Amino acid sequence: MRIAIISDIHANLPALEAVLHHIDGQQVDKIYCLGDTVGYGGKPVECVERVRADCDGSVIGNHDEAVALNEGTEFLPRDGQVAAALHRSLLSEEDIAWLAERPKVLVADGVTFVHAAPQEPQTWLRIESLQEAQEQFQHFETDFCLIGHTHVAGVIGNKIGVLRVRPGYRYLINPGAVGQPRDGNPRASYGVLDTDAVTYQNHRVPYNIERAMEDIRAAGLPKSLAYRLEFGN
Ligand code: ZN
Repeated sequence: MRIAIISDIHANLPALEAVLHHIDGQQVDKIYCLGDTVGYGGKPVECVERVRADCDGSVIGNHDEAVALNEGTEFLPRDGQVAAALHRSLLSEEDIAWLAERPKVLVADGVTFVHAAPQEPQTWLRIESLQEAQEQFQHFETDFCLIGHTHVAGVIGNKIGVLRVRPGYRYLINPGAVGQPRDGNPRASYGVLDTDAVTYQNHRVPYNIERAMEDIRAAGLPKSLAYRLEFGN
């Protein structure tokens, strides 16, 4: 099974379109989304509709929750709060209901999918240390757990030794962010996991950043949300 994993699209339609186009050439069987389809960017409606149409499964993120359920908005950065309120007003009732119904954790095709962390998924833990990452292995049972939320791609193994990706070893993988990378590389990030060959490849896809910045300005959102896309931070 070849699975593409996309995360943290954040209403960035040019980035999402570029990634979906790239995925077309990867012979994947399925596409899963790790949440935060909305928040921050200029095209929330279009992004929700693409995810609904193109993904085989998805989980809810903290920005999705703020928009769809009006919960946890106070924990978002100020510009994120502005975007969440705007996105809530733009989405149809049907799209709001669909977002609200996404599960916090999805186990499918032998993989665990969760937005922030399998440990207490409802608290949106931000995994930033190796120790926090290692603790996560006690909170999922599959060989692979895919997480997003930090917007920084990475792979963590549960055993220390020669790094060989192989059956029986378990991995915590973050595919990075489609719509708002924060690792200094502005290109859209996503991953392809092959559960039979036991390989994982992270891809960085160039996209029309100018258009995404213009979408943010046209939506009347804070300019800082546009600028950061140029630098990937
Ligand atoms: Zn996010």
